[in-house]
Amino acid sequence: MSAGTLTPSDARVSGDYIEQVMAQVKAKNPAEPEFHQAVQEVFESLRLVLQRHPEYREARILERVVEPERVIMFRVPWFDDQGKIQVNRGFRIEMNSAIGPYKGGLRFHPSVTLGILKFLAFEQVFKNSLTTLPMGGGKGGSDFDPKGKSDNEVMRFCQSFMTELYRHIGPDTDVPAGDIGAGGREIGFLFGQYKRLANEFTGVLTGKGLNWGGSLIRPEATGYGCVYFAAEMLKTRKDSLEGKLCLVSGSGNVSQYTVEKLLDLGAKPLTVSDSNGVICDPDGIDREKLAYVMELKNSRRGRIREYADKFKKALFMPTDVKSDHNPLWNIKADCAFPSATQNEINAKDASNLIKNGVKVVAEGANMPSTLEATKLFLENGILYGPAKAANAGGVATSGLEMAQNSARLSWTRAEVDDRLHEIMIAIHDNCFRTAEKYGTPGNLVNGANIGGFLKVADSMLDQGLV
Ligand code: NAP
Repeated sequence: MSAGTLTPSDARVSGDYIEQVMAQVKAKNPAEPEFHQAVQEVFESLRLVLQRHPEYREARILERVVEPERVIMFRVPWFDDQGKIQVNRGFRIEMNSAIGPYKGGLRFHPSVTLGILKFLAFEQVFKNSLTTLPMGGGKGGSDFDPKGKSDNEVMRFCQSFMTELYRHIGPDTDVPAGDIGAGGREIGFLFGQYKRLANEFTGVLTGKGLNWGGSLIRPEATGYGCVYFAAEMLKTRKDSLEGKLCLVSGSGNVSQYTVEKLLDLGAKPLTVSDSNGVICDPDGIDREKLAYVMELKNSRRGRIREYADKFKKALFMPTDVKSDHNPLWNIKADCAFPSATQNEINAKDASNLIKNGVKVVAEGANMPSTLEATKLFLENGILYGPAKAANAGGVATSGLEMAQNSARLSWTRAEVDDRLHEIMIAIHDNCFRTAEKYGTPGNLVNGANIGGFLKVADSMLDQGLV
């Protein structure tokens, strides 16, 4: 059926259905605002899809897709360096396996709750679908805070966490990776304990070290991929990143490699941040300064304010939790790469970016913009790359790591980078074409949500009521 044959009653029925399911989601999952937000955003994009495909409504695909296939929640006890007992909570959300084994990162951060991980797992389902690779969606983590812990404490926590998680995961079942607070060090400790308990050496985690099954370019992939995506968006307006002033938030994995790829493509990154504040360097963050940030964050595990002690022209602005805006998004620039955490751009921040003439927003972090901020970007014709498309390069390269592990092979750096680049071009193309096909040209939010959803929904239909 084509969009031309739709009647107002089709639109009303699909609108009513979406509102009904949304109300159920809120009632069944109270006190999980981030999960509601992620579902709401996807559902808004699906109105036209449901009008054209009544079969999804009949098979109750929306009700099924918001319900995790499995939620695992467990106690993680461990001894700190003083010999005192500490107890954290561990989670794994196995959201949807219609197109492949569950796949998604582990987040170790004190803000982690069931609702945060459900929003991330939900997003992951559609993101993984967009990568073109056979991966279902999952997410996990703990309210454990690695900040300020010794390496031995982090190891004891990771070993305790894996002692429960190992029975639920496997290379063809569920393949976790890193996320906030879970980098190379944590993945190493988790993998070591998995191997010991399962007595097998398999690709059960991605983001592994290069000596023991990791893939070249995996650490770089999310940041590089996000910049490739931004370049594709600019290409549609016959523009490029060359000479563009860029705002990057965060100073962790995604931010560092976003800055690196921006430098490769001739752009000028001006900012990095952490939860204590923002650095703005009017001379730009060059390779030497980036190397300093990497050493500061990955080895010394220090705070970003130290950057301003080292590079005197840079300004440090401390975070003011009471302020209604983040000063980072009020600096004049052409492009913004939010790469820290969810809801870091609110409506006021979005207005500031627009007022200052920003052309591109490419989301390295997951759901960094509130629904109101997203709406403003779309209404103002900003080239807006939503997270599930723009940051899919990380999980795509995890998929490439899984393929290399299965084949017992390692591809070269150039080979993995080329595949990553091709995947980001394909994701952009899919989102762009899908947005047009569904009557909202240039709206990559609709493009990503619909493009990701269709493959999952059709696979669910094929596989019956499971
Ligand atoms: P990371 O290496 O742990 O770095 C996170 C950065 O964000 C740090 O600078 C951190 O500052 C800052 N941050 C975290 N929580 C914050 C908060 N509540 N307020 C302000 N700043 C905060 O993590 P990452 O891997 O780069 O992940 C960053 C984002 O990208 C997350 O949204 C993640 O889900 C998303 N993502 C990551 C990947 C991946 O491959 N790693 C893939 C796709 C999406 P502090 O040091 O002060 O905490």
